[in-house]
Amino acid sequence: MLFPLYGVLVWWLVFRGRRRWSGLGWLAAGEAVLAMVALFHAQLGKWGSIQIESLQLLLYSYAGLLALVGVFLFVQPRVYAVRGRRLCRACGYDLVGIIEDKPTCPECGKTFDPEVFKPARPNGSVRESQLSRWAPETPEA
Ligand SMILES: [Zn+2]
Repeated sequence: MLFPLYGVLVWWLVFRGRRRWSGLGWLAAGEAVLAMVALFHAQLGKWGSIQIESLQLLLYSYAGLLALVGVFLFVQPRVYAVRGRRLCRACGYDLVGIIEDKPTCPECGKTFDPEVFKPARPNGSVRESQLSRWAPETPEA
């Protein structure tokens, strides 16, 4: 009962820190705790008569799963959906569908960075670095 909760917690922390050292740290910490639990269990097996071999196997596979999903989450790009927010900074005109090789607002003539209109992913979201250069919360009037 505790293990699924633990995995979700570690994955959540890894995902929050993805592509950053903190995420890698959380993954390493999560694996270290599992390794300690496995060691503890192995020690219990030596001391007493408790048969825990299947539990050890379960722990190892669980640690493997944690690492696999953890790495998968860690490499996820930090993207934010900004659909419907690609507005001209100068006049607020909706620039969705503007041809990339003509990076000029048809409404006011202000040029914009065409990089932000190349979707980083099929769903139209862009990367964090692009967001900081473009797509303000509210267009500057
Ligand atoms: Zn404009």
